[in-house]
Amino acid sequence: MSAIAELSLKDRILEILSHVPDPEIPCVSVVDLGIVREVRGTTLVITPTYTGCPATIAIEQDIRAALDRASMSLIKIETTLSPPWTTDWISEEGRAKLRAYGIAPPAKGAAKHSLREAPAECPRCGSLHTEELSRFGSTPCKALHRCLDCREPFDRFKCH
Ligand SMILES: [Zn+2]
Repeated sequence: MSAIAELSLKDRILEILSHVPDPEIPCVSVVDLGIVREVRGTTLVITPTYTGCPATIAIEQDIRAALDRASMSLIKIETTLSPPWTTDWISEEGRAKLRAYGIAPPAKGAAKHSLREAPAECPRCGSLHTEELSRFGSTPCKALHRCLDCREPFDRFKCH
């Protein structure tokens, strides 16, 4: 396969997967989340998000189904856990979509540098004057926060 053909196959796969939503947060695609790592020949390499999160099984099934629907049954899905997925892989577009959906994206770099999480930014008013109410939000991947300025509770992606 030539380099050009590989590139276009990769582009086609990315285009298909950009329409596969995250099972828990349908506003972002698996591409936005950075789950899709690379296309090597006819192998698609993905790194699931939160290990132990039931959504990760659904994500692989959804990707498989989307590829099959696009007559790409020959594409193999390979799962790699190394390096582990981090919230830093969420694209800028993905972060903007999360904010629009009312979920605070994780602080960038917090996972990589194992820093304490920076204050959550309120997705509604942008205030950093927020507090964590609970480590457990609507799903195990999110923590429940509240904005002290506009008083709205919101979910935030946990960093890791
Ligand atoms: Zn606010």
